[in-house]
This record gives sequence, C-alpha cells and structure tokens, in this order.
Amino acid sequence: NDIDMQTKDLEIYYGKNLAMHHADIQFKKNTITALIGPSGSGKSTFLRSLNRMNDDVATVKGEILYKGVNINQPGIDVYEVRRRIGMVFQRPNPFAKSIYDNVTFALQRRGIHDKKVLDEVVETTLKQAAVWDQVKDSLHKSAQSLSGGQAQRVCIARALAVKPDVLLLDEPASALDPVSTSQLEQTLRELKPNYTIIIVTHNMQQAARLSDYTVFFNLGEAIEYNKTRKIFTRP
Ligand code: ADP
Ligand code: ADP
Repeated sequence: NDIDMQTKDLEIYYGKNLAMHHADIQFKKNTITALIGPSGSGKSTFLRSLNRMNDDVATVKGEILYKGVNINQPGIDVYEVRRRIGMVFQRPNPFAKSIYDNVTFALQRRGIHDKKVLDEVVETTLKQAAVWDQVKDSLHKSAQSLSGGQAQRVCIARALAVKPDVLLLDEPASALDPVSTSQLEQTLRELKPNYTIIIVTHNMQQAARLSDYTVFFNLGEAIEYNKTRKIFTRP
C-alpha cells in the first residue's frame, strides 16, 4: 500500500464556523503534494490538522488515517503523532539556542544525551537540509543569528531529527529570497525519496515546479485534487 496518509470526510470547525468541508485526500509515499488556493481558503487549517496541531483551537471531525490507523480519535498519543508527522512553519522559528541544541532539542527532551548519538544526528540532518557546510564550524552559535534561509534549513533539520516520515510545510519559502527558495525546493526534491511531503504554498509556479499532486482549496473546500501535471496543463 503506497498511501501514507489519508483524510476521510474531514470537517474542521472554529467554534461554529465550518473552515473545512468534508475533505477526502490521499497522500502517497515519496511524493510531494502541494496545497494551494487563495488566502483564507483553509490550507493551513487542513495542514495543521494532519498532525493534530489544531486540537486546541479547532474541532476536527472525520478520519485522518496514518499508515491505515485513524489518528483522529481518543486514546491516540498526539506527541507520537507529531514525532512521525513533522511540521515546518512559514517563518523560520529557531529557538534562542545554539544550532546544535536546536537540532537535538527533541532528542534531549527525551533524555538522549549521548554526545556521539547527538553529533551523528546533527551532521546527518543538517546534511539532509543542505546547510551542513555553512554551519559545521559554528554549531554552537545561536541559531537566531543565521540568515532566514539558513535558519529555515536548521528548522528542517530540527524536524528531521526525530525521524518523521511525513513532513508538513506551511509556506516554508514565503519569507525567503528567490535563491534560498530554489535551494529549499531542491532540498525537498532530495528528501522526497524518503518522506511523504505536504506543502502549503500560495505560489502556483512553485506548486507546478515541485509537486507530484496538487490539492486546490477554495472557501474551505478541496475543489480539485489531481496529479499536478494534469492540473497545470489544460487542453
Ligand atoms: P489559508 O491557510 O488558506 O490562508 P486558513 O486555514 O488560515 O487559510 O484559514 C481558513 C479560515 O479559517 C479563515 O476564515 C480563517 O480566518 C479561519 N481561521 C484560521 N485559523 C483560525 C483560528 N485559530 N481561529 C478561528 N478562525 C481561524
Ligand atoms: P496564514 O494564513 O499565513 O497561516 P494567518 O495570518 O491567517 O496566517 O494566521 C496566523 C495565525 O492566526 C494562525 O495561527 C491562525 O490559526 C490564526 N488565525 C487566523 N485567522 C484567525 C481568526 N479568524 N481568528 C483567530 N485566529 C486566527
């Protein structure tokens, strides 16, 4: 089965406001899916619900299947869900800590302090995020002193450190310059063989360049969902 995640009849409310109508979307392994649509159409709402990040503010009804298991039900360990389904935000949000401590934060919180293990994770994930060469000599400098593009890569490494298999990205390039943006897109292409990637973007060209599947949202509804090349090449 190559379906990694799937929503079934997903409905999301903020109070009484229905922000997402019954969305039925499938996410295949080792693909990039772009979530596009106008501002306020529900892209972030949908994305954040996928790893239960919306629980405090929204009511989420319906099923969210992760490897066949409905993770939107009582008794599910949401911390484990968020470990498996990582999130990268719109604005790079490194903690006021060193680069090293940013990347290893979640592991240290879990009581992993073996320097060899942590060193290995730092090197591997910063390489995956394609920022190792730039920061390898300054791992103990504050991550908040980095440029936006580098900080965003450190945030990607931080997300990868706990070995998720789904990566959610909420407009990860919108605060970046064009060069950093295309580097970030290249990094996501390189991650694709090992992850299921779901990315919110308001940039149609980015969706067309980067994604295998596209979901088009409008007014809280997934109005179109198809292979990207079918959506972007009309007869
Ligand atoms: P998009 O990501 O496409 O810009 P959002 O998911 O942010 O759209 O927003 C969809 C709708 O839900 C909007 O009407 C927005 O105002 C509303 N909304 C988003 N977050 C909240 C929230 N925390 N509380 C109440 N309403 C929200
Ligand atoms: P974006 O659409 O780029 O995610 P927004 O400015 O819509 O950014 O949302 C920023 C934050 O405000 C998010 O956490 C979102 O959930 C929240 N938010 C958005 N709309 C509302 C709303 N109508 N009421 C309360 N919170 C909202």
